[in-house]
Amino acid sequence: MGVATTLATRRPARLGLVAAIGLGVVLGGAAAADAAIGHVRTQSSPLTVRSGPGTSYAAVGAVARGARITIVCHTKGSRVKGPYGSTDVWDKLGDGRWVADAYTSSSDPSPECSPSALDTVAVAYRGSRPCSTDERPYTNGRVPRSALCTLRDARSESLRPKAAAAFDGLSAAYRQHSGHALCVTDSYRSYDEQVAVKATRGRWAATPGRSEHGLGLAVDLCGGVDRFGTDAHLWMVVNAPRYGWTHPGWADAGGSLPEPWHWEYTG
Ligand SMILES: [Zn+2]
Repeated sequence: MGVATTLATRRPARLGLVAAIGLGVVLGGAAAADAAIGHVRTQSSPLTVRSGPGTSYAAVGAVARGARITIVCHTKGSRVKGPYGSTDVWDKLGDGRWVADAYTSSSDPSPECSPSALDTVAVAYRGSRPCSTDERPYTNGRVPRSALCTLRDARSESLRPKAAAAFDGLSAAYRQHSGHALCVTDSYRSYDEQVAVKATRGRWAATPGRSEHGLGLAVDLCGGVDRFGTDAHLWMVVNAPRYGWTHPGWADAGGSLPEPWHWEYTG
């Protein structure tokens, strides 16, 4: 099979990798001489080539069955089942695009992609196109539907256009890291919804008309981000600011109202 069997010895500690990305440390890309030559194995149809290491990334081409490919490096992405087994390894091709390792074989293992290579993918997602250009200010809780965008990975949730686009990028990057989109429990809240939330949550909810949720610039997250000290929360602390999302001081562990789940878009 592909390079999956070599991962145990080649994979760096995850937190170390994330920290390196967050600090902008560039360890250098894989030299061309390190690239591996591989072959594509599918039943009959061509293998989809994607813009990033996962099935959530856009399909940007295809390579034919049996085609010879140059694998520059590999990294973890979404899990795929293919002729070479079930694996979350993705191979980066010489042209910067990606294929699932479950469909490729190579005589030599490729190197692990450097943080800078992964960073390129994250940056590509930062510029997701907003669904609307209406960024005019509106009264808290009175933002019209036309000035809100549905979140790509949470279709019942919405935010102001730029905040939504940035969040979509952040969620795509998180999926690349964890295999899952960011879990969202709350986003934009109309004034009436803020009144209802205040009634049930008391001091854990802002005064109606004052919440950042009413501006469409805040989310409440789940899936581990909602607990301080988890890998998911730490990942957000390191990476969210690169997408304009931050965790406000008042919501920190030592803040006036500790809410690990609450994140705000500050641009
Ligand atoms: Zn909140």
